[in-house]
Amino acid sequence: MKTQESATPRRLSFEIFRYNPEDPESVPHMQTYELDEAPYMSLYLALNQIRETQDPSLQFDFACRSAICGSCGMMVNGRPALGCRTLTSDLPDVVRLHPLPVFKLIGDLSVDTGTWFREMVEKSEAWIHTEQPFDPEATEARMDDDLAQAIYEGERCIECGCCVASCGVANVNKDFFGPAGLNRIARFMMDPRDARNDSDWFEVVANADGVFGCIGMMACHDVCPKELPLLEVYAYLRRKSLAAAFAKR
Ligand code: SF4
Ligand code: SF4
Repeated sequence: MKTQESATPRRLSFEIFRYNPEDPESVPHMQTYELDEAPYMSLYLALNQIRETQDPSLQFDFACRSAICGSCGMMVNGRPALGCRTLTSDLPDVVRLHPLPVFKLIGDLSVDTGTWFREMVEKSEAWIHTEQPFDPEATEARMDDDLAQAIYEGERCIECGCCVASCGVANVNKDFFGPAGLNRIARFMMDPRDARNDSDWFEVVANADGVFGCIGMMACHDVCPKELPLLEVYAYLRRKSLAAAFAKR
């Protein structure tokens, strides 16, 4: 690998998965594109350059370019990562790109994470459940600082799907909530505005599709681009589940 300011640019080779599931003639294959590396080039820039100068049919997703929209997750040399956050200077001369597994393929590197996340949210009902009528005149409900910070940690998830793609369980069990799903459940379990009790949550999360399906190898923790404290999330869910189980006895 060369430094960002190298006088002679590296010639990079991008081997990219190509397949259009909408086209009956399309066959999955790898296609190679070559490009001179530029200083501070991200995969976002490289792929846009390839699409603009070599192949306008190449499909991939990007929106914000700053790790906020969560659109550009892809497999980079076998590891889930955000294209906008990955610099080519951190990669070898040959870069192999595949779409994230688990999610429905739209085409080439583009996948539909939205449907997966919506189904997961609907299944877990991971939103505030309350009997209190909405009062636009009411003053803001106060919350303990530490609790607000813990909830905010969960809210930082950008739903990029990198953790889900890295998870062996999510790859074989389509009903598993996955790391991002468990994180979202924990976020609402903590929220004092939610009327559900531990026993209600036990039914949602204390099973093989929930936190007890996780085998704890922490691939999700290693790839999360927002460095969410997923280890602490699972520990919290297990503690709450066990407390609810003992309370039922
Ligand atoms: S630790 Fe659990 S949720 Fe994370 S990747 Fe492993 S099995 Fe999946
Ligand atoms: S937990 Fe991390 S890796 Fe998973 S979807 Fe959220 S931001 Fe992406």
